[in-house]
Amino acid sequence: MSMEDYDYLFKIVLIGNAGVGKTCLVRRFTQLQIWDTAGQERFRSITQSYYRSANALILTYDITCEDSFRCLPEWLREIEQYANNQVVTILVGNKIDLAEKREVLRQRAEDFAEAQSMLYLETSAKESDNVEKLFLDLACELIREA
Ligand code: GDP
Ligand code: MG
Repeated sequence: MSMEDYDYLFKIVLIGNAGVGKTCLVRRFTQLQIWDTAGQERFRSITQSYYRSANALILTYDITCEDSFRCLPEWLREIEQYANNQVVTILVGNKIDLAEKREVLRQRAEDFAEAQSMLYLETSAKESDNVEKLFLDLACELIREA
């Protein structure tokens, strides 16, 4: 397929702490052009080139890891600094198959997302729960704003 075969081409970038499940999410859904990190987030060395010309960001945390949620403001500062200001951001709480280990209440995450004008969804990359919805909702939002 060449560029001319698409009606739209959007660049979607995944960010969030190491271990939250970004790579697993991408592997579950490969129809859109999605950029995943090569693990640079461990060294906090994701920079401008990664965010450049991204149309959407999937900011991911792990619902069983309070620390990954507490780091979200840091990620938002980075988005502010590097991403273009029309970028669509969706907050994703991943690993809902581990509900018994949940450390971040859904309501808390929803409130945080709403305050930051982000969409919010909870997923399980492991069980493929809500992953298709994540990418379809994002695609709809991108087309709506295009
Ligand atoms: P990344 O560092 O954000 O790219 O995270 P990875 O995709 O490499 O996943 C980190 C670890 O979390 C791996 O051991 C995955 O198997 C596991 N993982 C990812 N998504 C899920 C999920 O939805 N549920 C569960 N239980 N484990 C997951
Ligand atoms: Mg990864």
